Amino acid sequence: MDSPKTLLEAINVFSNPDNCREFMIGVRWLDGVVRCPACGSDKVVYMEKSKLYNCKVNHPKQKFSLKVGTIFEDSPIGLDKWLPAVWLIISAKHGISSYELHRSLGVTQKTAWFMLHRIRLAIQTGSFMKADGNGGEVEIDETFIGGKARNMHSAKR
Ligand SMILES: [Zn+2]
Repeated sequence: MDSPKTLLEAINVFSNPDNCREFMIGVRWLDGVVRCPACGSDKVVYMEKSKLYNCKVNHPKQKFSLKVGTIFEDSPIGLDKWLPAVWLIISAKHGISSYELHRSLGVTQKTAWFMLHRIRLAIQTGSFMKADGNGGEVEIDETFIGGKARNMHSAKR
């Protein structure tokens, strides 16, 4: 998967859940192996229908999405909106307002403000992971704008 070059491309790419999944795996696990956020096991199965992973180890919260532990968690906003928003914010050389985000992505202004706030914080810390999340020691701007496959799984390069 190449980095999108335009907003239109970003929206197109991330409207496909498989692309969002590939992207999220790429920024969270440098080796491309999905691990359970609760126990760290890699014995996980992807469930196509619910778009969730299921950990085979017996513990609470066996089912998880790739948003768990990231700045995208705790919001009903889908990755199909989040990821183009990140692209937009990083690409805007002179900054972007929540109003522009609202107009470009068709989300409410309140939602746009929330997204802008979270994404800016992620850019500052250099990770999509929340402070207590595991992994994801990847430079955000390089992931998106560098156009390189540096953060994609080595197997796919
Ligand atoms: Zn687990």
